[in-house]
Amino acid sequence: MAVVGRSSIIYVCLTACMTLLPQNPHKDDVLEGIPSGKTRVIDLSYAINDKLVPWPGDTRWFEAKVNATVEKNGYFTRSFWMLEHYGTHLDAPIHFPPGKMTVDEIPARKLFGPAVVLDVRAEGAKDSDYQLPAARVEKWEKRHGRIPEGAIVLLRTGWASRWPDAQRYRNQDAQGRMHFPGYSVEAAKLLIERKVSGLGCDTMSADYGASEDFAVHHAVLGAGLYQLENLADLSELPESGAFLVVAPIKLEGGSGGAVRVFALLP
Ligand SMILES: [Zn+2]
Repeated sequence: MAVVGRSSIIYVCLTACMTLLPQNPHKDDVLEGIPSGKTRVIDLSYAINDKLVPWPGDTRWFEAKVNATVEKNGYFTRSFWMLEHYGTHLDAPIHFPPGKMTVDEIPARKLFGPAVVLDVRAEGAKDSDYQLPAARVEKWEKRHGRIPEGAIVLLRTGWASRWPDAQRYRNQDAQGRMHFPGYSVEAAKLLIERKVSGLGCDTMSADYGASEDFAVHHAVLGAGLYQLENLADLSELPESGAFLVVAPIKLEGGSGGAVRVFALLP
């Protein structure tokens, strides 16, 4: 007869209890699964060059110059100049009043959070002036639960498929007014109430293209949140379940700047 020690019994009980505990094994494995490829990493930023879509009226947006070459200097370096709001970029609260915080002052913990994806590709295809109503946010919550504090909300309009064709992406009319979907100020206010960290979109602006008052910018940035604009193709993201890592340039005093955004898919 085998003698089972007390410690073995405790060990067996603990193991049994742990497997019964209500926990999400995926959640714990997200970071560990990156090196093996078990967790997929999707880059939601466009590479920066001089051929991206600038805001209408911008006359200069990006320039790069070679300063040293391997042939001449034994090493390679460049210097570059670019607008803070060009390509995939982050709008810091100070970009629009009454926002105050500069890009370097955004707390690091606000740059990590679960992704809430609001899919309006069908609506945007029918109406390029579509503004996401607050009811669409509530509809998402009915399906996936209340939006958690610290979430990062992404508006998926499908506009990334037009990038980098400036004419189709900006979609300007004869008067020069742009037409692409965006958040309504009511939806933005509801998301601010939910205490999300930021709002993003796969268009040029969190406000819809034809906006003249930038009401969403004032509300969102004024409440101390940040915005992510010109995000790359969001089509591979689930409506719920992805985790975002937002890494903006830490430019002291900046109104915003180039940002690298990664989605982690367990
Ligand atoms: Zn911007």
